[in-house]
Amino acid sequence: MRLSRYFLPVLKETPSEAQIVSHRLMLRAGMIKQASAGIYSWLPLGYKVLRNIERIVHEEQVRAGHIPLLMPTLQSADLWKESGRYDAYGPEMLRIRDRHDRDMLYGPTNEEMITDIFRSHVSSYKDLPLTLYHIQWKFRDEVRPRFGVMRGREFLMKDGYTFDLTKEDALHAYNRHLVSYLRTYERMGLQAIPMRADSGPIGGDDTHEFLVLAETGESEVFYDSEITGLKFGDREIDYDNVEQCRSVLEEFTSRYARTDETHDEALFNEIPEDRRRVARGIEVGQIFYFGTKYSEPMGATVQGPDGKPVPVHMGSHGIGVSRLLGAIIEASHDDRGIIWPEGVTPFHVGIVNLKSGDPEADAACAALHESFTALGLDPLYDDTSERAGAKFATMDLIGLPWRITVGPRGLKNGVVELTSRRTGESEEMPPEQAVARIA
Ligand code: ATP
Ligand code: MG
Ligand code: MG
Ligand code: MG
Repeated sequence: MRLSRYFLPVLKETPSEAQIVSHRLMLRAGMIKQASAGIYSWLPLGYKVLRNIERIVHEEQVRAGHIPLLMPTLQSADLWKESGRYDAYGPEMLRIRDRHDRDMLYGPTNEEMITDIFRSHVSSYKDLPLTLYHIQWKFRDEVRPRFGVMRGREFLMKDGYTFDLTKEDALHAYNRHLVSYLRTYERMGLQAIPMRADSGPIGGDDTHEFLVLAETGESEVFYDSEITGLKFGDREIDYDNVEQCRSVLEEFTSRYARTDETHDEALFNEIPEDRRRVARGIEVGQIFYFGTKYSEPMGATVQGPDGKPVPVHMGSHGIGVSRLLGAIIEASHDDRGIIWPEGVTPFHVGIVNLKSGDPEADAACAALHESFTALGLDPLYDDTSERAGAKFATMDLIGLPWRITVGPRGLKNGVVELTSRRTGESEEMPPEQAVARIA
């Protein structure tokens, strides 16, 4: 992509309405524009990152054997009246009346709708286990939308729903989700710690939230510092292997890690003092096992092996897809701008032409652009006539992992300059070598 043909409305000034760094940087980098409180347009750069995050989430869900579908954003109130949550949910639910005076709502979550799909089409235990998920916009009329996409009113969520015959099977589904989430967040360059949490309006007994540690996080968290040393890494996992998934869960949840809602001071004080940590975190996901809370009132039963109907055991599992952009930036930036992890970066590399209009510099940049494209990589080529300083500032702000600087002086010696955004280190080398380094 040539910058001269792109739409990247970067801001020079720091927007005064943004209180935290990720919100400021997303506005300055031209990634989002507020449409109304807690509702955003995703400008091209932000949209690219959002899609990358979504792709990683999809890939890891499919790897775990979960099946994508898509449910609508608008729901009929009838299902929610059946489950009893229409009244219980409160003012966070945006209620709408259509022209025929039917009560509708903009879905804040989809337990009822998925349970309805399930009961309409599944009748035998032989069709279990089943995990269906979607990535869809949600609406919650938050009292205080703030921090940009971190606490929006309209936001993108992955929500998955598990259906099993027994509690034991449902707990395997829970463990499988925990494992798939660990992989998902690590691929985005994040450490998200599973912490024992409270189930809130979703209900249920077993639940963990995934938290990214950050000073600007809205949750207070308490944990054993040993937990930050745990990495999922690239270990092989068989998602059907009950023991293997359970052992990962045990490894990642045996140390003390809780949000303030479930914090237990006495238990916390059993950790050696030098390992006790009190900090803040951003909730980027949550998994729930809630048994028959919805299947019972809504009649989601299957015929068991003995021919008798049994309500299915369910769980629901969410990832805050749009919130993750903010969380990633909170975890990865410096005073010049964003530093994208390779897995989610909007472009793989920025090419800066120091002298647009110079035939040799133009040709060298065009050749680099072509080489990357041929390799399936996505370069952003700054072919504008801005000053070098401004070009560098924009590249630093938008946080691409690599920058290649091309100018007539270097080209005379056959070299370009390759700079790592993360370390700030630069090195001169022939263009082909720079391509090979990034590819
Ligand atoms: P929070 O405690 O932050 O209000 P929640 O516990 O109400 O979140 P869940 O019902 O667990 O949210 O939804 C799953 C995920 O969706 C959350 O872990 C979070 O990452 C994301 N999410 C929830 N509310 C918002 C929001 N208002 N804006 C952006 N993302 C959100
Ligand atoms: Mg909430
Ligand atoms: Mg929460
Ligand atoms: Mg939650």
